[in-house]
Amino acid sequence: MSFELSEEHREFRRSVRDFAEAEIAPHAAEWDRKHYFPVETVQKMGRLGLFGLTAPEQYGGSGGDFTSLCVAIEEISRVDQSMGITLEAAVGLGINPILTYGTDEQKQQWLPDLVAGRKLAGFGLTEPESGSDAGATKTRAVLDGDEWVIDGSKQFITNSGSSITSVVTVTARTGEKPDGRPEISTIIVPAGTPGFVAEAQYDKLGWHASDTHPLSFAGCRVPKENLLGERGKGFGQFLATLDDGRVAIGAVALGCLKACLEMSVQYAGERKTFGVPIGQKQGVAFQISDLKVMADAAELLVYRAAALKDAGASVQEFRQAASVAKLYATESAVTATRIATQVFGGYGFMEEYPVTRFYRDAKILEIGEGTSEVQRMLIARGLGLPVE
Ligand SMILES: Cc1cc2nc3c(=O)[nH]c(=O)nc-3n(C[C@H](O)[C@H](O)[C@H](O)COP(=O)(O)OP(=O)(O)OC[C@H]3O[C@@H](n4cnc5c(N)ncnc54)[C@H](O)[C@@H]3O)c2cc1C
Repeated sequence: MSFELSEEHREFRRSVRDFAEAEIAPHAAEWDRKHYFPVETVQKMGRLGLFGLTAPEQYGGSGGDFTSLCVAIEEISRVDQSMGITLEAAVGLGINPILTYGTDEQKQQWLPDLVAGRKLAGFGLTEPESGSDAGATKTRAVLDGDEWVIDGSKQFITNSGSSITSVVTVTARTGEKPDGRPEISTIIVPAGTPGFVAEAQYDKLGWHASDTHPLSFAGCRVPKENLLGERGKGFGQFLATLDDGRVAIGAVALGCLKACLEMSVQYAGERKTFGVPIGQKQGVAFQISDLKVMADAAELLVYRAAALKDAGASVQEFRQAASVAKLYATESAVTATRIATQVFGGYGFMEEYPVTRFYRDAKILEIGEGTSEVQRMLIARGLGLPVE
């Protein structure tokens, strides 16, 4: 049993870290302050190959494993969660559904630009009245001749309205099943399609440099060939998409945890009170010890889940491991940012240090791609409990 990443993964980690330190870290505070989505840096990440890590070579990817993607997301998130989530959503929610369920034509049309990071795709599942209860989708798509006509709305959709967004995939009701439950399908909607509007950006607590919009669809027509995968299979598709996404969000949380640990160790060695560094006080040092324990435990859980994915584990085994990793890593990240800001004292409340941005950015980790409560529900179900 090995608990170490391979030498290849470690070497890859070093190259992503160099990039993140040089190209992202120096600008992250300014992007955050200005709520600026740095398209040029996103495209540099693309040129580094980060969007194509898990895509086959025929679409411009490197055909690598899921573990490599988690390493990249972790390293980017260690300096900036906004860019970490941009990468996570671009691959996990943007590229993956098309790669997994698309026809050859759909893949040829959309993937080369997405894999190269020249363009971005969003994945629209959440609606004003359907988040955790994702099956309650109200958006409708009706087949009219050779076209789907889409009406409805989506909310909180990442990478859906940037200047380089080329496409969003959305779930919609396309009918009713014989047992009366809604038939949900997934449809590809190119940016710029009449009737599809990415509304103004949200004013968020954190992730200020990430692109998030509400989407509206009014009589939006796309060719019937834009159905992604089989009609009526949309529910299963997004469940599988979210399993991967949860591990990847765990990797964002892990980057945040490690950053909190590093920042706290450094500050506790420098800041003096009562004539000695605060790290000499058990009250501070023991809190930082807890950060180390959380970071190590989260690392094991995230990379265990990634290794299961790479080894082709069963859906049940992977789903359980993904939820466990997401739940632990994200809740620990929120706790860690609270501890780290406490270690920084008053400076922890000032935008002068990155720790403040990490504090604001972390909260959403417990909410996006399935809240902590939803993860606990899935874990309990995996244990065979009849939880609702
Ligand atoms: C910045 C950001 C980016 C996002 N990006 C995307 C994206 O790209 N694509 C996308 O589709 N969505 C995206 N989301 C949406 C996100 O996944 C949802 O917000 C999340 O799943 C929760 O749904 P909700 O907001 O409707 O909360 P609700 O479902 O209304 O939940 C409210 C509260 O009730 C709890 N709750 C609900 N049901 C239960 C239950 N059965 N048992 C116990 N507790 C329960 C929840 O845990 C939560 O605490 C994003 C959200 C944000 C904020």
